[in-house]
This record gives sequence, C-alpha cells and structure tokens, in this order.
Amino acid sequence: MSSIFTKIINKEIPSDIVYEQENIIVIKDINPEAKTHLLIIPKKEIPTINDILDEDRELISEMFFVAKKIAKDLNISEWYKLHFNVWEKWWQEVMHIHLHLLSNI
Ligand code: AMP
Repeated sequence: MSSIFTKIINKEIPSDIVYEQENIIVIKDINPEAKTHLLIIPKKEIPTINDILDEDRELISEMFFVAKKIAKDLNISEWYKLHFNVWEKWWQEVMHIHLHLLSNI
C-alpha cells in the first residue's frame, strides 16, 4: 500500500506544496510544531533511514541541499533545525522517510 506521502506526491490527496523537483517534494506539515514546519520528502518511497541503499546516496544528500535552499529562500538560514525520526518506537509515524525542517523565526 502506498504511503500517505506517495499519495501526496501523486496528487491523489491535497497538501500544501512549498517546493517540488524531479525527485523531491517539500510540503507544510499538517500539524506544525513550529512557526515553520516543513517536510522534505524523496519521491522514492523508502520506509526508514535504516532502509536506505547505496544507490540512494545522491538522493539522501540532495535532501540536505534542498533543506539549505528552502531555508535560504525563507530567510531562516541562521535559525532552523533538521531531524529524522527513525522507526515507530522512536516516533516515526509515516513510514516514508522525510526530513523535518523547523524554525520559529
Ligand atoms: P514522523 O513522526 O517523523 O513520521 O512525522 C510525520 C509527520 O507527517 C507529522 O509531523 C505529521 O503531522 C505529518 N503529516 C501526516 N500526514 C500529513 C499530511 N497529509 N500532510 C502533511 N503532513 C502530514
């Protein structure tokens, strides 16, 4: 079954898309924990960070470059944090990797 983020990527369900490129999408978190709370999501459905493969190196790296670009575009480059939750025991709710970008500026 597709993850909720795959459904968002395929535009089967609505979301607030902030940025999109060939292999990555950035959306607003539906339940924000900060003034800015974005999710940087690879279009490839990878369940957890434990499941990344050698072939995903470039994609995972690209997620950080996208984070940097978005932070710069939003003028929050000097005050933001990034995090991954990994696995259900450690608060990962959606099994499709995503990098949280949060800022209170
Ligand atoms: P995590 O706990 O790391 O798996 O984070 C999942 C995040 O996805 C949570 O912060 C949720 O609020 C967010 N989320 C879940 N469903 C949606 C949705 N349909 N659109 C935007 N964000 C969502």
